[in-house]
Amino acid sequence: MSSRRELFLEEMGLTPLWRLRVREAEQEPDGEQDRSAPGAAVPALAPTPALQQPGPGADERAARIARMDWAELKAAVAGCTACGLRKSCTQTVFGVGDEHADWMLVGEAPGAEEDARGEPFVGQAGKLLDGMLAGIGLKRGNDVYIANVLKCRPPGNRNPEHAEVAHCAPFLARQLDLVRPKLILAMGRFACQTLLDTDASIASLRGRLHRYQGVPLIVTYHPAYLLRSLLDKAKAWEDLCFARRSMAALLSQA
Ligand code: URA
Repeated sequence: MSSRRELFLEEMGLTPLWRLRVREAEQEPDGEQDRSAPGAAVPALAPTPALQQPGPGADERAARIARMDWAELKAAVAGCTACGLRKSCTQTVFGVGDEHADWMLVGEAPGAEEDARGEPFVGQAGKLLDGMLAGIGLKRGNDVYIANVLKCRPPGNRNPEHAEVAHCAPFLARQLDLVRPKLILAMGRFACQTLLDTDASIASLRGRLHRYQGVPLIVTYHPAYLLRSLLDKAKAWEDLCFARRSMAALLSQA
């Protein structure tokens, strides 16, 4: 096993035997059962979803965004005032990485560090994410693109509101369309529920291959949540192994 992977497993609270070193009493957020199995074959596909759209004029706006190239999209995000978040954030946080990546990771919204630096996942959660990527042989920017559902930081890191997600979703949809990844890793409740158009829990969605607009999508916990939950770090590691196996299968089919 490479030392990078050992370091990652250490960070994840796992021994080199990939067993839990510390079992916390902490429950999954919704207490549902884990349906994934580390050695399981890639299972059947879940239905294709659609990103939700807000009120009148929204379809036209979404259609406009859906025709943008990268430069237009970056300018549109930078200039967006569709919801109130732009008033309170320092800057928009567009996305980062390889614009032709096979892997696309989707998080929730910028936090304080991301708001200050203009790049997704550069705070504590980002450090864990980089470790998680290293654990499966990936590196930010190298065949990986990272974006959030929201491009502006919600004040005090509060949860995104429905209207904010709805206004921002066309930007993410266009990023996904332009990158055209082979596999999407949706991290946390907001990314999973937005991309899969569902209110199902992460626990119930994990361990299966879903589809977003035909692109295979895997669900896992948000790195910020994993910083607080050792038990679910082990589950996230299962999700990453599942994602790595799924990518290998996709590449061998191609
Ligand atoms: N959490 C997220 O969901 N995204 C970030 O960019 C940082 C923290």
